[in-house]
Amino acid sequence: MEQTQDFERARSEWEALREQIERYRTAYYSEGVSLVSDGQYDEQFHRLEALERAFPELAGQDSPTQEVGAAVVSAGFPPHEHAERMLSLDNVFSLEEFADWAVKTADAAGRPVRWLSELKIDGLAISLAYRDGVLETATTRGDGRVGEDITENIDWIPVIPRTLSGEGFPPFFEARGEVFIATADFTAMNGRQHELQAAFETDQQAKGVPADKVKVRYPEFANARNAAAGSLRQRRENKNADQIDLMRERLGRLSLYIHGIGAWQHPELPNQSDIYGLLDGWGLPVSPHSRVFDTAAEVQAFIAECGVHRHDFEHEIDGIVVKVDELALHDELGATSRAPRWAIAYKYPPEEVTTKLLRIEVGI
Ligand code: NAD
Repeated sequence: MEQTQDFERARSEWEALREQIERYRTAYYSEGVSLVSDGQYDEQFHRLEALERAFPELAGQDSPTQEVGAAVVSAGFPPHEHAERMLSLDNVFSLEEFADWAVKTADAAGRPVRWLSELKIDGLAISLAYRDGVLETATTRGDGRVGEDITENIDWIPVIPRTLSGEGFPPFFEARGEVFIATADFTAMNGRQHELQAAFETDQQAKGVPADKVKVRYPEFANARNAAAGSLRQRRENKNADQIDLMRERLGRLSLYIHGIGAWQHPELPNQSDIYGLLDGWGLPVSPHSRVFDTAAEVQAFIAECGVHRHDFEHEIDGIVVKVDELALHDELGATSRAPRWAIAYKYPPEEVTTKLLRIEVGI
């Protein structure tokens, strides 16, 4: 009887949480709006996972814990199906939780594991498909199966090579990475918004619009992630020459680090860190901050050290991603419908103190 009551209580909490989280996700992934801070979102998501662990019958296919991102509600870009699914990452929020995950993962591996440890870049995921060394498509993650084909913007993003250099690439492969705006570029971008807004205000006032009635046409970007997402997903359609120039300028400020692969035939290499060496040689940018460690204790020290220097990197980070370096173990450990079992994201405590409505404003 008591057990039934516990389950009923858990189910009604789970249903209320699921509904709320779905609302946050739709706003975030489809409209670029954060209705709550990332910290608050993560807390509720974590609670949903805990309820599902206690009552596994709650964890159906319709739970957000089983989903990656959101289906494409396109700003006009054609949909494109990834050759191999793009997944999200499971999270831990303390060094103890990370240590537990490492023990569990090493046990499941059944042999010594080396840990590839990387900065978790606060940007947005992209998949670059190359055929015979030439870029075929650039696609956002979408719901992990189908994303938006944003290839038409690539010519204006100099960090993404159209053609690879060197030799020995697979006939077809997908490189997965993070598009971001470096902190210095983010400051410059907001400086430019101020400049454009000031010019707009002068123009409006010259046309007789009272100062307090002039609209904000070029708002500050709320954060670098939103600025990157807004810039990447701009369309050329219906823009005049000035707007096209601005679009080009913003796309030119995007940066990229590759942090994984999707479809891949050969050459077969033992470790993900070896693949990075190869990609780097072909002209694809990889992060200089990644490290490989033999023990979970060394990873913990890396997490702590990067936490101290959290704002000293060239881009914003919201955590550390730890991956099993050996590629054969990726296949052996597999994945859930949402995330690989061979990787985890350690999230630093949130720094936001207020809940505000953040909207992607590209101002053109
Ligand atoms: P995530 O951002 O927590 O982690 C997965 C992503 O990390 C990957 O898809 C990849 O793009 C990225 N990543 C960055 N550096 C990486 C690296 N070195 N290696 C591998 N991947 C790396 O998960 P998500 O599913 O993209 O988004 C969930 C998160 O988004 C939440 O935890 C929350 O922070 C935020 N969110 C916020 C709201 C809100 O309303 N505030 C709503 C939904 C989601």
